[in-house]
Amino acid sequence: MHIEDRGYQFGDGVYEVIAVVGGHLVDEAPHLARLHRSLAELRIPPPMGDAALKLVFRETIRRNGVDNGIVYLQVTRGAAPRDHAFPKAAKPVLVVTSRRSRVPNPRFGREGIAVITIPDIRWQRCDIKSVALVPNVLGKQQAREAGAYEAWQVDRDGNITEGTSTNAWIVTGDDAVMTRAADNAILNGVTRGAVLDIIRREGYRFVERPFSLEEARAAREAFLTSTTAELLPVVRIDGAPVGDGKPGPLSLKLREGYLAHTMSE
Ligand code: PLP
Repeated sequence: MHIEDRGYQFGDGVYEVIAVVGGHLVDEAPHLARLHRSLAELRIPPPMGDAALKLVFRETIRRNGVDNGIVYLQVTRGAAPRDHAFPKAAKPVLVVTSRRSRVPNPRFGREGIAVITIPDIRWQRCDIKSVALVPNVLGKQQAREAGAYEAWQVDRDGNITEGTSTNAWIVTGDDAVMTRAADNAILNGVTRGAVLDIIRREGYRFVERPFSLEEARAAREAFLTSTTAELLPVVRIDGAPVGDGKPGPLSLKLREGYLAHTMSE
């Protein structure tokens, strides 16, 4: 990596993390679609076409002997003498890596995890999957130090936006699954999209709108989603139990549905 790579100096780049399950890439198409959206929003040209990129993914997986794990992709605006404004002659720099990794501890799926809540101190374009993740890093560290899996971020209106690397969901008292609409305040998770498809297919009640910390505290169930966390029931928020403090039945059904989806392609 060049010392003057703009990703290194400015966080001027985007990334994707795609799960590899049984040797195949889970939801590759929506990940590529989101990559193109992030690149377009930052006016970074795609480093190569999708067909070539898919070949690079497969070769990277093969050379690293990855059956179950992740592919990490990063595109920065390139290397150029340091100046905040876009350089005239920089070529985007692509990095693709792949590594074996275990799915989250199965105990987390069975018993659920704890979250804390923190103020959302991020910028107003959280819809871009930017490599500039310092607020997310600080939030996750705060969660770890509190013995929690994740930190749910709360905006100025008292609504939960999302976790530091996951999307946030609740199930309301009248059994409606609720998550924030994919606005500029959250990353439109590919896992979120896959879970929404399951919800529609199974005909569960669903409401897409911001929900408050109070609503989350009063929720019957809660859960979070991401490529690496899959779908994990949330059983404690700031130390207080969600519902009866056990993973909710709807969360567990959706988790099963999502795990089947990752294995089905
Ligand atoms: N929200 C944030 C801030 C994230 O960083 C991530 C993933 O890294 C997600 C949500 C979940 O997105 P996905 O389901 O595409 O992994």
